[in-house]
Amino acid sequence: MTIWFATGNTGKRTELAAILPRHTIKIPADEGIPFDPEETGATFAENALIKARELQRLVSKPHSPVPVIADDSGICVDALGGRPGIHSSRYGSEGGLKLESADRNTLLLKELGDNPLRSARFVCAMALLWSDDRFFLVQETLEGEIIREERGTGGFGFDPILYLPQFDRTVAELPEEEKNRISHRGKAGMAIARFLGGQ
Ligand code: IMP
Repeated sequence: MTIWFATGNTGKRTELAAILPRHTIKIPADEGIPFDPEETGATFAENALIKARELQRLVSKPHSPVPVIADDSGICVDALGGRPGIHSSRYGSEGGLKLESADRNTLLLKELGDNPLRSARFVCAMALLWSDDRFFLVQETLEGEIIREERGTGGFGFDPILYLPQFDRTVAELPEEEKNRISHRGKAGMAIARFLGGQ
């Protein structure tokens, strides 16, 4: 089955294709479709559904919806009341200009300072949308602690500052397959794969 994935990130597509090997995963860029919906939801789950609905509208024929997967993710830091949360990709940006990942990490470490409460988690909501009224929605986490200095070169985004005590490593120090096995996005994707397996 062909499943559309509402992302502009080819890395995420590779990840999802590995989790759903029996399906063909297409992203808007494959067909030159511009895709940058406004994420107006108040939660990760709402934003995942907004992206899925928008892409389904763009790629389906009238009254014949094609299946679409969309995700929304971010980092939630307890000492910051759950921020930056759904605003993670724009954390620290001013006037529409996004900060580089390294600068966002430096800013977050500075904002947290010496606060002893270090618990934080990556969160990923993922939606498989069949039609307007039929969808499967899952939300998963990867729990960790904000370390005091960046460590590791793998992954992306906040990976170098999320420390996983059970591995004694940051997410950026994990091999890619290991991250995919335990990550918020990996676990959400696997739940969707199990759901599809039962269809
Ligand atoms: P989105 O889900 O593509 O909107 O991503 C939101 C933002 O959350 C990204 O730009 C990253 O800053 C952060 N983020 C989400 N997942 C991860 C992850 O696995 N590692 C590091 N940062 C992440």
